[in-house]
Amino acid sequence: MLLFGLLAAACGAQADPVAPIVVTPGGAPPMIAIAGSGQSAPAGTAVAIPPRFLLSERDGTPRPGIQVRFSVAAGGGWVVDSLVTTGLDGTAAVEWVLGAALAPQRLRAITSEYITEITAVATAPTPGTTLFGKNDYVEYVVGDAPVILSAPHGGSLTPAEIPDRTGGTQVRDTATEELARSIAAQYFVTTGRRPHLIISRLHRKKLDPNREVVEAAEGQPAAIRAWREYQHFLEVAHAAVSGSSAHGLLLDVHGHGHPIARLEWGYLFTSTQLSGTDIALNGLSTQTSMRMLSTVFPGSVAGLVRGPQSLGALLEARGYPSVPSPTAPAPGTEPYFSGGYLVERHGSRDGGTVNAVQLETNFPGIRDSESNRARFAVALVDAITVFLGLTP
Ligand SMILES: [Zn+2]
Repeated sequence: MLLFGLLAAACGAQADPVAPIVVTPGGAPPMIAIAGSGQSAPAGTAVAIPPRFLLSERDGTPRPGIQVRFSVAAGGGWVVDSLVTTGLDGTAAVEWVLGAALAPQRLRAITSEYITEITAVATAPTPGTTLFGKNDYVEYVVGDAPVILSAPHGGSLTPAEIPDRTGGTQVRDTATEELARSIAAQYFVTTGRRPHLIISRLHRKKLDPNREVVEAAEGQPAAIRAWREYQHFLEVAHAAVSGSSAHGLLLDVHGHGHPIARLEWGYLFTSTQLSGTDIALNGLSTQTSMRMLSTVFPGSVAGLVRGPQSLGALLEARGYPSVPSPTAPAPGTEPYFSGGYLVERHGSRDGGTVNAVQLETNFPGIRDSESNRARFAVALVDAITVFLGLTP
């Protein structure tokens, strides 16, 4: 069988939103986009009109029952359903969520006989606006600062359409959603710029965005969708920061219930590794979620995680005990969170210039009241601006 409509894949130009279809002389095109081509939408959001494709015989008769496989050919977005069967009218439609790329993005539809593509254009989301995922489970407040705040475990929504997770950790990090919002508000007050803020509003027993998708969503379609939205909003924020600053900071905000009331900063180093010497730690730069920054920071890796200008040191100086820090260079035998999926995936360990840390906050004195959250936000934002000012 011949394959039709491959031209758009090769040219990459924006001129023709619908991939050319080879029309049999005197007959109908075998597969054609009849809706949803040539749209634009903010990066990270779905195009308003779900793209729809019509399959027909050469005499124009619709072809029901044909499987159409949808995939994203360019742009980094995703489709909600990858396999759709044409209905009685011979059409199949799909929801298409655009990725972070501001260049034209391409959606591909394939049957056993034909291929065609359409394009869409993602626009940069406007700072200060709020984007929501499906049913508002995931929220993204768009920023213009080189800082990204992530709050994956503070949500409280328990929709019936998502069964409770049966494995993993299901306890929410109380008041971390409120804490992240407070930090974002204070950042704007202090600097006049907005951090990017991504929040899971789902309770952790429904979704854990800080795990890979299998453990995170346990196969539930609505949870999988929310998980993708969370990761892709982070990617959109990452792209914005990367495009506007030499380096950026992703703070993944959590809450712990460990016996010692102190901040735990997770850079992807284990307790054992932190118990080693500074020289040994400096040899582990390829492992940290702040890999990029560790190559230019005063004092190398050790300086970054526990030197006098580390985040731990800067927060201790503002009244919030921290590990690692100059006074507590390693957690020792105390329980400690070293960093998880989000800082692994979205930090600079595997490349890029956005440096990530998992910030675990104690409850008393930080999360337990609105005034304490606000007080902590002032200290943290002050520390972040000093920290980001240390390197060009
Ligand atoms: Zn957590």
